[in-house]
Amino acid sequence: MVAQMGTLDIEHTRAICAKALGMMEAYGVGPAPRNYEIWYAHATGTVPGLAMALEAVFTGDGEWSSQAADDIYLRFFPAVPNPASLAAIGDALQHEMASILKSVTEAGAETKSYGAALEIVTGQMDRGVDANRLPAIAHQLAVSTRAMRARTDALERELEQTSKEVAALRAKNEAIRQEALTDSLTNLGNRKHFDERLAEAADAAMKTGGPLCVIMADVDRFKAFNDMWGHQTGDQVLRLVAACFSDNVKGRDTAARYGGEEFAVILPETSLANARVLAEQIRRNVQAKKVVKRSTGETLGAITISLGVASLQPGEHPQDMLRRADKCLYAAKHAGRNRVMDEDSAGQPSATAA
Ligand code: GH3
Ligand code: MG
Ligand code: MG
Repeated sequence: MVAQMGTLDIEHTRAICAKALGMMEAYGVGPAPRNYEIWYAHATGTVPGLAMALEAVFTGDGEWSSQAADDIYLRFFPAVPNPASLAAIGDALQHEMASILKSVTEAGAETKSYGAALEIVTGQMDRGVDANRLPAIAHQLAVSTRAMRARTDALERELEQTSKEVAALRAKNEAIRQEALTDSLTNLGNRKHFDERLAEAADAAMKTGGPLCVIMADVDRFKAFNDMWGHQTGDQVLRLVAACFSDNVKGRDTAARYGGEEFAVILPETSLANARVLAEQIRRNVQAKKVVKRSTGETLGAITISLGVASLQPGEHPQDMLRRADKCLYAAKHAGRNRVMDEDSAGQPSATAA
């Protein structure tokens, strides 16, 4: 049956489209396709957090920019595997399967005819062997056996080749999946990766009853840094900060770029106190980095980050834990930045910048 869009669906889509365009007009957002995609999603009201993020863009004197579009796109529209390459892999796999099936079917037919040849010979022998006919029978047997062996050898080679090709396709598929989960600027996992791992970690914590913590982190005064040194140098800093996360986060723990200049860490089987220790370590690590502008060799001063730490309460949804970590992060910002706050010590910042 061919799927058709009902009249109601079209009306609904039209209404959302009009709403999106109306809002874009009102907020001075240009009609670029990506902008439209963002605002259309906003008009549907189905993307959690998107409304708040858009609101944040326009607070104060804020206005829409390609940077704002980049940030929002990165946060709310994680890359999906290129459908064309996935379809190509699907086709290739189907082709391999068809060729295996063909080989096996042919081999089956071959085996059957070999079986028939053997039966004839056995029948002849059962009826008593005429010595004169023995050479002819032996010859017939030899010919059938040789044909059968040639066929099974060929089949073995074909199967070996096919299994190599299937393994290569599987590897390619995995590479594409990895790419879709990786942030291309920093090589850390992206938001989608983070969300998937968090759901897994929360499930595991629920089953084992073990602890689970998250760290949310945000680069301090990064807008000013970009304004002062340029966006490209800003990107270089994000790579540097990302490296501090990957250097300190190992094994079953997951570090990800959560959004523009925000990073997050999932820490299964980790107490709040230990999560806080790690957050402190990352904070100090970032602060200790010397930031040098590549093009000119200028030293640009220290970069700092603020961090919030929360742990999963029994039975709670992991998004609630994230919200609490975010609250702690904002408490850290309000308390002066470059510090860690956790839910137990909110109000009592840990070591601050030297
Ligand atoms: P705060 O200490 O309160 O976090 O201040 P802030 O300036 O860091 O916060 P704000 O949210 O106002 O600004 C975030 C900035 O991060 C704005 C945006 O230009 C920058 N940013 C986000 N993503 C990227 C990126 O991929 N590259 C660069 N260079 N800058 C980015
Ligand atoms: Mg931020
Ligand atoms: Mg910031």
